[in-house]
Amino acid sequence: MPFCGGDKLLAAYRLAQRDGYAFMANNVAESNVFLGLIAAYSDARSDLLVQISPGAAKFAGGGDKRTGLRVLSMMIQEIANASPVCVFINLDHFTVDERDLIDEAIEGRLVSSIMIDASKDPFEDNVRICREVADCAAGSGILIEAELGKIKGVEDEISSDEALYTDPEEAVEFVRRTHADLLAISAGTQHGVSKGRTLDLRVDLAGRIRDRLSANGLQTPLVLHGSSGLLPEQVHEMIGNGICKLNKDTQYQYVYGRAACEFYRDHADAILPPEDIEDDILNLFAESDWSPDKSQFDPRVVGRSIQSRIADIAAELIQQAGSGKKTLYLEKESES
Ligand SMILES: [Zn+2]
Repeated sequence: MPFCGGDKLLAAYRLAQRDGYAFMANNVAESNVFLGLIAAYSDARSDLLVQISPGAAKFAGGGDKRTGLRVLSMMIQEIANASPVCVFINLDHFTVDERDLIDEAIEGRLVSSIMIDASKDPFEDNVRICREVADCAAGSGILIEAELGKIKGVEDEISSDEALYTDPEEAVEFVRRTHADLLAISAGTQHGVSKGRTLDLRVDLAGRIRDRLSANGLQTPLVLHGSSGLLPEQVHEMIGNGICKLNKDTQYQYVYGRAACEFYRDHADAILPPEDIEDDILNLFAESDWSPDKSQFDPRVVGRSIQSRIADIAAELIQQAGSGKKTLYLEKESES
């Protein structure tokens, strides 16, 4: 199944709401993480939601966000073509500063959904900014995620010193006025490295927000940012209270770093010259008896190791979220 747009993504969220599971939203800034993810999600027959942050776009484009956004979107779409699951792309924490990129993503159908983050701004400004983007996306099929409340911590180019929990009544007004398809709430999680057991997590608040929205005829899927440090039981509780999307960025950053670190530690002798050999990177040790081992320093070797470790963790997280064997693609197969 190829990359799919917002109409299919909304169908996926509706199924998740009906059957009580969720999607982990996985950030991607380069190919190794994505290849590990798609291997795991294909195996588990779970639809895959990946996210591109402004910082990831900047990185992938060598400093140019516009180039990087296109590079990442095209890479994901091309690889998705051969996979047995639906692949969705979300723009993560895009702000008014990236408004031109948002417009381009909508026009070029580069993504399935877009998070417009104006949560730092006062309520009225947040409403106005999100509504403008929702109006711009109307008719494109691309979903809009907006955030109400503040999430503590640092993630990508976003940081907040304090947490500000989302108010359920305000959430109803916010969704009504912004026309947002998804609502990111603040319920005690933190961006960056956090420890689930020490968080002041407000599971009940997520449930109250869901219930208030529902009482007002709004079936808006709820989003939880900063979910990397949550314990499995916390994830389950959150899903049981209306969370349909859990953002995981820091988790995979650590897995990537850990896999690379262990690989190079274990293969240091194949790559670093012994102490009595003069260093000669430029000539690749042409004048020495010692040679580095290409079967270990080829970046594809560590890359495969990273992909496989990402896939292992992704498989666990698919289990936590309950999204395995639920792909829309399978539904289509069984219908026909
Ligand atoms: Zn976030």
